[in-house]
Amino acid sequence: MQDAFRRKIDYLRISITDKCNLRCIYCMPEEGIPLKPHEEILRFEEILRLVKIAAGLGISKIRLTGGEPLVRRGVVSLIRDLTRIPGITDVSLTTNGLLLTKMGPDLKRAGLKRLNISLDTLEPEKYRSITRGGSLKQVWEGIETALDLSFCPVKINTVVMRGINDDEILDFVRLTYLYPLHIRFIECMPIGEADGWARQHLVPQAEIKARVEEGFKLELKAETGILGSGPASYYHLSGALGSVGFISPLSVHFCPACNRLRLTADGKLRPCLNSQRELDLKGPLREGANDEKLREIFLEAVRKKPQGHLMNETDWNQPRMMYQIGG
Ligand code: SAM
Ligand code: SF4
Repeated sequence: MQDAFRRKIDYLRISITDKCNLRCIYCMPEEGIPLKPHEEILRFEEILRLVKIAAGLGISKIRLTGGEPLVRRGVVSLIRDLTRIPGITDVSLTTNGLLLTKMGPDLKRAGLKRLNISLDTLEPEKYRSITRGGSLKQVWEGIETALDLSFCPVKINTVVMRGINDDEILDFVRLTYLYPLHIRFIECMPIGEADGWARQHLVPQAEIKARVEEGFKLELKAETGILGSGPASYYHLSGALGSVGFISPLSVHFCPACNRLRLTADGKLRPCLNSQRELDLKGPLREGANDEKLREIFLEAVRKKPQGHLMNETDWNQPRMMYQIGG
Protein backbone atom coordinates (compact mmCIF):
# COMPACT_ATOMS: atom_id res chain seq x y z
CA MET A 1 0.00 0.00 0.00
CA GLN A 2 1.20 3.48 -0.77
CA ASP A 3 -0.31 6.66 0.64
CA ALA A 4 -0.90 10.02 -1.01
CA PHE A 5 2.64 11.12 -0.08
CA ARG A 6 4.26 8.05 -1.69
CA ARG A 7 5.04 6.41 1.65
CA LYS A 8 4.95 2.62 1.66
CA ILE A 9 2.66 1.34 4.42
CA ASP A 10 3.68 -2.12 5.57
CA TYR A 11 3.54 -1.92 9.37
CA LEU A 12 0.61 -2.29 11.78
CA ARG A 13 0.92 -1.52 15.49
CA ILE A 14 -1.77 -3.20 17.53
CA SER A 15 -2.67 -2.13 21.04
CA ILE A 16 -4.19 -5.22 22.65
CA THR A 17 -5.17 -3.63 25.95
CA ASP A 18 -5.45 -0.23 27.63
CA LYS A 19 -4.57 -1.77 30.98
CA CYS A 20 -1.16 -1.49 32.55
CA ASN A 21 0.69 -2.61 35.65
CA LEU A 22 2.50 0.77 35.85
CA ARG A 23 1.33 4.38 35.93
CA CYS A 24 4.12 6.31 34.17
CA ILE A 25 3.81 10.02 34.84
CA TYR A 26 3.75 10.94 31.13
CA CYS A 27 1.26 8.26 30.13
CA MET A 28 -1.29 7.10 32.73
CA PRO A 29 -3.28 8.98 35.35
CA GLU A 30 -2.19 8.15 38.89
CA GLU A 31 -5.55 6.63 39.77
CA GLY A 32 -5.48 4.32 36.74
CA ILE A 33 -8.15 4.15 34.07
CA PRO A 34 -11.82 3.14 34.08
CA LEU A 35 -12.19 -0.52 33.21
CA LYS A 36 -13.67 -1.07 29.77
CA PRO A 37 -16.37 -3.73 29.42
CA HIS A 38 -14.91 -6.89 27.96
CA GLU A 39 -16.99 -6.70 24.79
CA GLU A 40 -15.53 -3.30 23.86
CA ILE A 41 -12.11 -4.85 23.32
CA LEU A 42 -11.29 -6.77 20.15
CA ARG A 43 -11.17 -10.51 20.69
CA PHE A 44 -8.05 -12.32 19.52
CA GLU A 45 -9.90 -14.06 16.69
CA GLU A 46 -11.05 -10.62 15.50
CA ILE A 47 -7.49 -9.29 15.60
CA LEU A 48 -6.29 -12.34 13.65
CA ARG A 49 -8.94 -11.85 10.98
CA LEU A 50 -7.98 -8.20 10.59
CA VAL A 51 -4.28 -9.03 10.37
CA LYS A 52 -4.95 -11.65 7.68
CA ILE A 53 -6.79 -8.99 5.67
CA ALA A 54 -4.03 -6.44 6.28
CA ALA A 55 -1.37 -8.98 5.26
CA GLY A 56 -3.22 -9.47 1.99
CA LEU A 57 -2.83 -5.72 1.40
CA GLY A 58 0.91 -5.68 2.06
CA ILE A 59 1.27 -5.34 5.83
CA SER A 60 4.23 -7.54 6.76
CA LYS A 61 5.27 -6.22 10.18
CA ILE A 62 3.20 -6.32 13.36
CA ARG A 63 4.04 -4.82 16.74
CA LEU A 64 1.94 -5.57 19.81
CA THR A 65 1.70 -2.79 22.33
CA GLY A 66 -0.72 -1.32 24.87
CA GLY A 67 -1.19 -0.42 27.74
CA GLU A 68 1.02 -3.26 28.78
CA PRO A 69 0.54 -6.06 26.25
CA LEU A 70 1.89 -8.77 28.57
CA VAL A 71 -0.96 -8.28 31.06
CA ARG A 72 -3.52 -9.50 28.55
CA ARG A 73 -4.24 -13.18 29.07
CA GLY A 74 -3.48 -15.33 26.02
CA VAL A 75 -0.94 -12.96 24.46
CA VAL A 76 1.53 -15.83 23.90
CA SER A 77 -0.92 -17.79 21.76
CA LEU A 78 -1.87 -14.60 19.89
CA ILE A 79 1.80 -14.11 19.00
CA ARG A 80 2.10 -17.74 17.87
CA ASP A 81 -0.96 -17.34 15.62
CA LEU A 82 0.27 -14.02 14.22
CA THR A 83 3.64 -15.47 13.22
CA ARG A 84 1.81 -18.14 11.21
CA ILE A 85 -0.17 -15.72 9.04
CA PRO A 86 1.15 -15.83 5.46
CA GLY A 87 2.80 -12.52 4.57
CA ILE A 88 3.61 -11.58 8.18
CA THR A 89 7.38 -11.71 8.38
CA ASP A 90 8.00 -9.84 11.59
CA VAL A 91 6.14 -9.82 14.93
CA SER A 92 7.51 -7.69 17.75
CA LEU A 93 6.43 -6.38 21.12
CA THR A 94 6.82 -3.18 23.14
CA THR A 95 6.72 -3.81 26.88
CA ASN A 96 7.66 -2.26 30.18
CA GLY A 97 9.54 -5.50 30.84
CA LEU A 98 8.06 -6.28 34.26
CA LEU A 99 6.71 -9.67 33.18
CA LEU A 100 9.55 -10.69 30.91
CA THR A 101 11.38 -12.91 33.37
CA LYS A 102 8.24 -14.98 33.80
CA MET A 103 7.00 -14.91 30.20
CA GLY A 104 10.22 -14.62 28.16
CA PRO A 105 10.70 -18.35 27.47
CA ASP A 106 7.07 -18.79 26.31
CA LEU A 107 7.27 -15.67 24.15
CA LYS A 108 10.42 -16.99 22.54
CA ARG A 109 8.84 -20.38 21.87
CA ALA A 110 5.83 -18.62 20.35
CA GLY A 111 8.13 -17.14 17.69
CA LEU A 112 8.72 -13.63 19.02
CA LYS A 113 12.18 -12.41 18.05
CA ARG A 114 12.32 -8.68 18.67
CA LEU A 115 11.62 -6.74 21.84
CA ASN A 116 11.41 -3.07 22.77
CA ILE A 117 11.62 -2.52 26.51
CA SER A 118 10.86 0.84 28.10
CA LEU A 119 13.27 2.11 30.72
CA ASP A 120 13.76 5.78 31.61
CA THR A 121 16.18 5.59 34.50
CA LEU A 122 18.84 3.36 36.03
CA GLU A 123 18.12 4.59 39.56
CA PRO A 124 15.68 2.45 41.59
CA GLU A 125 14.06 5.33 43.48
CA LYS A 126 13.63 7.42 40.36
CA TYR A 127 12.16 4.43 38.53
CA ARG A 128 9.65 4.00 41.31
CA SER A 129 8.73 7.66 41.07
CA ILE A 130 8.48 7.91 37.23
CA THR A 131 6.42 4.73 36.99
CA ARG A 132 4.57 5.38 40.27
CA GLY A 133 5.52 2.17 42.00
CA GLY A 134 7.55 0.00 39.59
CA SER A 135 10.61 -2.04 40.51
CA LEU A 136 13.79 -1.35 38.52
CA LYS A 137 15.20 -4.69 39.71
CA GLN A 138 12.29 -6.52 38.12
CA VAL A 139 12.67 -4.74 34.77
CA TRP A 140 16.41 -5.24 34.77
CA GLU A 141 15.92 -8.98 35.36
CA GLY A 142 13.49 -8.88 32.44
CA ILE A 143 16.13 -7.26 30.23
CA GLU A 144 18.70 -9.86 31.26
CA THR A 145 16.19 -12.63 30.52
CA ALA A 146 15.59 -11.13 27.07
CA LEU A 147 19.34 -11.12 26.36
CA ASP A 148 19.85 -14.62 27.78
CA LEU A 149 17.07 -15.90 25.52
CA SER A 150 18.78 -14.25 22.53
CA PHE A 151 15.94 -11.95 21.58
CA CYS A 152 17.46 -9.78 18.87
CA PRO A 153 17.44 -6.88 18.69
CA VAL A 154 16.57 -5.76 22.22
CA LYS A 155 15.86 -2.05 22.06
CA ILE A 156 15.47 0.17 25.09
CA ASN A 157 13.00 3.06 24.84
CA THR A 158 14.08 5.96 27.03
CA VAL A 159 11.87 9.04 27.22
CA VAL A 160 14.21 11.93 28.08
CA MET A 161 12.75 14.53 30.45
CA ARG A 162 14.59 17.66 31.49
CA GLY A 163 15.26 17.83 35.21
CA ILE A 164 14.07 14.25 35.68
CA ASN A 165 16.40 11.83 33.88
CA ASP A 166 18.49 13.93 31.47
CA ASP A 167 21.43 13.60 33.87
CA GLU A 168 21.56 9.88 32.99
CA ILE A 169 22.01 10.15 29.22
CA LEU A 170 25.66 9.08 29.35
CA ASP A 171 24.89 6.22 31.77
CA PHE A 172 22.47 4.81 29.21
CA VAL A 173 25.07 5.17 26.46
CA ARG A 174 27.58 3.25 28.61
CA LEU A 175 25.18 0.30 28.71
CA THR A 176 25.80 -0.25 24.99
CA TYR A 177 29.41 -1.20 25.79
CA LEU A 178 28.34 -3.82 28.32
CA TYR A 179 25.31 -5.31 26.58
CA PRO A 180 23.99 -5.64 23.02
CA LEU A 181 21.29 -3.11 23.76
CA HIS A 182 20.04 -0.47 21.34
CA ILE A 183 19.17 2.62 23.36
CA ARG A 184 16.62 4.93 21.77
CA PHE A 185 16.28 8.36 23.31
CA ILE A 186 12.74 9.61 22.75
CA GLU A 187 11.45 13.16 23.02
CA CYS A 188 8.54 13.39 25.42
CA MET A 189 5.34 14.03 23.47
CA PRO A 190 2.57 16.34 24.67
CA ILE A 191 -0.10 13.65 24.45
CA GLY A 192 -2.55 12.62 27.16
CA GLU A 193 -1.04 12.82 30.65
CA ALA A 194 2.01 14.66 29.30
CA ASP A 195 -0.06 17.26 27.46
CA GLY A 196 0.40 19.90 30.14
CA TRP A 197 4.07 19.51 30.88
CA ALA A 198 5.93 17.68 28.06
CA ARG A 199 7.13 20.93 26.49
CA GLN A 200 8.66 22.17 29.75
CA HIS A 201 10.56 18.89 30.06
CA LEU A 202 11.46 18.53 26.39
CA VAL A 203 15.12 17.93 25.66
CA PRO A 204 15.44 18.30 21.87
CA GLN A 205 17.32 15.66 19.91
CA ALA A 206 20.14 18.06 19.01
CA GLU A 207 20.82 18.64 22.70
CA ILE A 208 20.67 14.95 23.65
CA LYS A 209 23.05 14.16 20.80
CA ALA A 210 25.43 16.97 21.76
CA ARG A 211 25.51 15.65 25.32
CA VAL A 212 26.28 12.11 24.10
CA GLU A 213 29.04 13.52 21.92
CA GLU A 214 30.67 15.12 24.96
CA GLY A 215 31.60 11.59 26.05
CA PHE A 216 31.45 9.45 22.91
CA LYS A 217 32.09 9.58 19.19
CA LEU A 218 28.96 8.75 17.22
CA GLU A 219 29.07 7.32 13.71
CA LEU A 220 25.81 7.40 11.78
CA LYS A 221 24.77 3.89 10.74
CA ALA A 222 24.05 4.03 7.02
CA GLU A 223 22.61 0.50 7.03
CA THR A 224 20.32 -0.20 9.99
CA GLY A 225 20.04 -3.98 9.29
CA ILE A 226 18.28 -5.77 12.17
CA LEU A 227 17.27 -2.42 13.64
CA GLY A 228 14.68 -1.97 10.92
CA SER A 229 13.20 1.02 9.18
CA GLY A 230 11.32 2.83 11.95
CA PRO A 231 11.43 6.47 13.01
CA ALA A 232 14.79 6.23 14.83
CA SER A 233 18.14 7.30 13.42
CA TYR A 234 20.88 5.01 14.77
CA TYR A 235 24.52 5.64 15.59
CA HIS A 236 27.33 3.19 16.18
CA LEU A 237 29.95 3.76 18.87
CA SER A 238 33.36 2.28 18.34
CA GLY A 239 33.79 -0.89 20.43
CA ALA A 240 30.16 -0.96 21.61
CA LEU A 241 27.98 -4.07 21.47
CA GLY A 242 24.82 -2.06 20.93
CA SER A 243 23.97 1.31 19.44
CA VAL A 244 22.30 4.61 20.20
CA GLY A 245 19.24 5.95 18.40
CA PHE A 246 17.11 9.06 18.52
CA ILE A 247 13.37 9.31 18.03
CA SER A 248 12.45 12.93 17.67
CA PRO A 249 8.78 13.44 16.97
CA LEU A 250 8.94 17.11 17.89
CA SER A 251 12.24 18.68 16.93
CA VAL A 252 12.97 16.61 13.81
CA HIS A 253 9.82 15.60 12.01
CA PHE A 254 9.82 11.80 11.61
CA CYS A 255 6.64 11.75 9.49
CA PRO A 256 8.26 11.60 6.01
CA ALA A 257 9.47 8.07 6.87
CA CYS A 258 6.18 6.91 8.43
CA ASN A 259 5.22 3.41 7.30
CA ARG A 260 2.45 2.52 9.74
CA LEU A 261 -1.16 2.27 10.76
CA ARG A 262 -2.36 1.75 14.33
CA LEU A 263 -5.17 -0.42 15.62
CA THR A 264 -6.54 0.42 19.08
CA ALA A 265 -7.70 -2.20 21.56
CA ASP A 266 -11.31 -1.09 20.97
CA GLY A 267 -11.03 -1.67 17.25
CA LYS A 268 -10.36 1.74 15.71
CA LEU A 269 -7.86 2.09 12.89
CA ARG A 270 -5.70 5.21 13.24
CA PRO A 271 -3.91 6.58 10.18
CA CYS A 272 -1.62 8.72 12.39
CA LEU A 273 -0.24 8.65 15.95
CA ASN A 274 -1.54 12.10 16.62
CA SER A 275 -4.68 12.89 14.73
CA GLN A 276 -8.37 12.93 15.54
CA ARG A 277 -9.08 10.70 12.59
CA GLU A 278 -10.04 7.08 13.31
CA LEU A 279 -11.91 4.51 11.26
CA ASP A 280 -14.11 2.00 13.00
CA LEU A 281 -13.30 -1.63 12.28
CA LYS A 282 -14.98 -3.29 15.25
CA GLY A 283 -18.51 -2.17 14.31
CA PRO A 284 -18.41 -3.48 10.73
CA LEU A 285 -16.57 -6.62 11.89
CA ARG A 286 -19.31 -7.46 14.36
CA GLU A 287 -22.08 -6.52 11.97
CA GLY A 288 -20.86 -9.24 9.62
CA ALA A 289 -18.84 -7.22 7.09
CA ASN A 290 -17.15 -9.38 4.48
CA ASP A 291 -13.40 -9.25 3.87
CA GLU A 292 -13.84 -6.87 0.94
CA LYS A 293 -15.58 -4.28 3.13
CA LEU A 294 -12.88 -4.55 5.83
CA ARG A 295 -10.15 -4.33 3.21
CA GLU A 296 -11.74 -1.10 1.98
CA ILE A 297 -11.50 0.37 5.52
CA PHE A 298 -7.75 -0.34 5.60
CA LEU A 299 -7.35 1.29 2.18
CA GLU A 300 -9.40 4.29 3.32
CA ALA A 301 -7.11 4.70 6.36
CA VAL A 302 -4.08 4.71 4.08
CA ARG A 303 -5.74 7.28 1.81
CA LYS A 304 -6.47 9.41 4.88
CA LYS A 305 -2.96 9.35 6.30
CA PRO A 306 -2.03 12.99 6.89
CA GLN A 307 1.33 14.25 5.71
CA GLY A 308 2.41 14.79 9.30
CA HIS A 309 1.27 14.96 12.89
CA LEU A 310 0.24 18.31 14.33
CA MET A 311 2.01 18.01 17.69
CA ASN A 312 3.89 21.23 17.12
CA GLU A 313 0.68 23.20 16.49
CA THR A 314 -0.97 24.85 19.46
CA ASP A 315 -4.61 24.32 18.52
CA TRP A 316 -4.78 20.59 17.87
CA ASN A 317 -6.95 18.37 19.98
CA GLN A 318 -5.95 14.76 20.43
CA PRO A 319 -8.70 12.72 22.01
CA ARG A 320 -6.66 9.61 22.80
CA MET A 321 -4.20 8.87 25.59
CA MET A 322 -0.81 7.29 24.92
CA TYR A 323 -1.79 4.05 26.68
CA GLN A 324 -4.66 3.78 24.17
CA ILE A 325 -2.57 4.49 21.10
CA GLY A 326 0.36 2.30 22.10
CA GLY A 327 3.21 4.77 21.53
N1 SAM B 1 3.54 -0.47 28.25
C1 SAM B 1 4.45 -0.65 27.19
C2 SAM B 1 5.72 0.14 27.41
O1 SAM B 1 5.73 1.04 28.25
O2 SAM B 1 6.69 -0.13 26.69
C3 SAM B 1 3.87 -0.35 25.81
C4 SAM B 1 2.97 0.85 25.67
S1 SAM B 1 3.77 2.43 25.93
C5 SAM B 1 2.44 3.54 25.61
C6 SAM B 1 4.78 2.54 24.47
C7 SAM B 1 5.89 3.56 24.52
O3 SAM B 1 5.31 4.85 24.54
C8 SAM B 1 6.80 3.45 25.74
O4 SAM B 1 8.14 3.33 25.33
C9 SAM B 1 6.58 4.77 26.45
O5 SAM B 1 7.74 5.23 27.09
C10 SAM B 1 6.17 5.67 25.31
N2 SAM B 1 5.41 6.84 25.74
C11 SAM B 1 4.30 6.89 26.49
N3 SAM B 1 3.90 8.17 26.67
C12 SAM B 1 4.80 8.95 26.01
C13 SAM B 1 4.95 10.36 25.81
N4 SAM B 1 4.08 11.23 26.32
N5 SAM B 1 5.99 10.79 25.06
C14 SAM B 1 6.88 9.91 24.53
N6 SAM B 1 6.79 8.58 24.66
C15 SAM B 1 5.76 8.11 25.41
FE1 SF4 C 1 2.13 1.59 31.16
FE2 SF4 C 1 3.75 1.76 29.10
FE3 SF4 C 1 2.14 3.81 29.73
FE4 SF4 C 1 4.17 3.23 31.34
S1 SF4 C 1 4.32 3.92 29.20
S2 SF4 C 1 2.04 3.62 31.97
S3 SF4 C 1 4.30 1.07 31.15
S4 SF4 C 1 1.50 1.83 29.02
